[in-house]
Amino acid sequence: MSNSTKYVFVTGGVTSSLGKGIISASLAKLLQARGYSTTIQKLDPYINIDPGTLNPYEHGECFVTDDGAETDLDLGHYERFLNVPTSQANNVTTGRIYQSVIDKERRGEFLGKTVQVIPHITDEIKERIQILGKSGDYDIVITEIGGTVGDIESLPYVEAVRQMKWEFENDCLVIHLTLVPYLAAAGELKTKPTQHSVKQLLELGVQPDILCCRTEHELDLTLRRKIAKFCNVNMNAVIESRDADSIYDVPLLMQTEELDKVVLEKLNLPTRSIPNLDNWKDFLLRLKNPESEINIGLVGKYVELKDSYKSISESIIHAGVANNVKVNVKWIHSEKITPANVQEELEGLCGLLVAPGFGSRGISGKIETVKYARENKVPFFGICLGMQCAVIEYARNVLGKVEAHTTEISENCKYPVIDMMSEQKNISNLGGTMRLGAYKCQLMPNSNIYRAYNNDKISERHRHRYEFNNSYLEEFEASGMKATGKNPETGLVEVVEIEDHPWFVGVQFHPEYKSTVAVPHPLFVAFIAASLKTSNSN
Ligand code: GLN
Repeated sequence: MSNSTKYVFVTGGVTSSLGKGIISASLAKLLQARGYSTTIQKLDPYINIDPGTLNPYEHGECFVTDDGAETDLDLGHYERFLNVPTSQANNVTTGRIYQSVIDKERRGEFLGKTVQVIPHITDEIKERIQILGKSGDYDIVITEIGGTVGDIESLPYVEAVRQMKWEFENDCLVIHLTLVPYLAAAGELKTKPTQHSVKQLLELGVQPDILCCRTEHELDLTLRRKIAKFCNVNMNAVIESRDADSIYDVPLLMQTEELDKVVLEKLNLPTRSIPNLDNWKDFLLRLKNPESEINIGLVGKYVELKDSYKSISESIIHAGVANNVKVNVKWIHSEKITPANVQEELEGLCGLLVAPGFGSRGISGKIETVKYARENKVPFFGICLGMQCAVIEYARNVLGKVEAHTTEISENCKYPVIDMMSEQKNISNLGGTMRLGAYKCQLMPNSNIYRAYNNDKISERHRHRYEFNNSYLEEFEASGMKATGKNPETGLVEVVEIEDHPWFVGVQFHPEYKSTVAVPHPLFVAFIAASLKTSNSN
């Protein structure tokens, strides 16, 4: 609890993809390790209300919080680093800001005033930034401003930051992330783009307090001095952010640069203890010193863009560390898998994960993968659409219902083993209307999933419209595919398993949203353990 929350803003300049999310998460980790309760918020300057309706090719994965918000994938990094859940308040878009201002205007709340970007939009932004601070739960709120300084879209956000800096004085600071490129021909690191980027911020009235400089080479004292001098920041506030082997190295790199110390000093907060990062270091040590290696396959339709499956690939890394094994993931395009090449594509992999997804593209390759995993007794993990494919495959090839399908793809199929949830049937809007967020699930004892969690009551996050069609449940169970997890209130089937198989688990929910460095997800840990066992017995 704190009386006066401190606000740290993270902006980006020169180019996108500098890793503002990872820097924000790393700083939060260090502050948390010093005993400060810290949260991170992402402000996204696009007009979509949330990324739920965005194609993963646009912004990568859509992350889902416990309270059912469809959010930017950076929130996944925040949770994985901090091991603290985020919520709707942690991600705000321009669309949401405008929607709220326009709704207020329609209700007459502006009392006849002309509604303008300044002050109405900026006030709304400032209010959203302070929602987390006012909750009283956090000492420090780190707000990452999406986009790059200079973009038209981010102007109102930078203006809101300027105003907050003015109003809150010592309780606010700005970290600006820039690029210090290396010019091979000149053999030098160049500071000019950083100088220009800071100038651009200054034109908008914001003097950054700390500069975090992404660079491929060491930022020596001369360069630090130069950047400090031209950008009006202290020498110790020029932070080098070198490219790292793993995103999980970044908190330690930032600790070496004393980013957390500089932030606390500037916010007039005591540095307290040296951050305790023993568990984090232990994780890194095990990540870098695996005892063995295994190869697993991830079958999905967005595999060319790995950000589309960010939480899944990070969960696999966490689970690998928990099993002391390096997991090499073969990314397989589901569209490329056919009955003719499935053996060749999947042979030798000791675990197969079929990814979530929407629509018909690549579905037959996913179903083919399930068949291969089931018949060859390869550990199988199906997530959401992956679980639905497992049900369809079983209906077609074991129950003999060749025309079984999901009504998402074949509305009038003869055997709709996966069907739209009844509460979804009258919904026409696409945004924010799926079954979203955390729901309870009751697990059956003596199942692989129960053994994984070592608990019969769990809660996991959802994002789907379709479900297992319970009118077929008896038939499935009689022939060996069991519902080993159900929603205790509605009876919806959340987990299916095949008895006569070393590890075949399909889950309707998304366990990947809850795996963190501190607590690798038990289901991923169990899947990797089963894959490791297969690898050892081959
Ligand atoms: N398209 C499926 C559904 O809506 C699965 C969704 C998913 O994989 N997240 O039910």
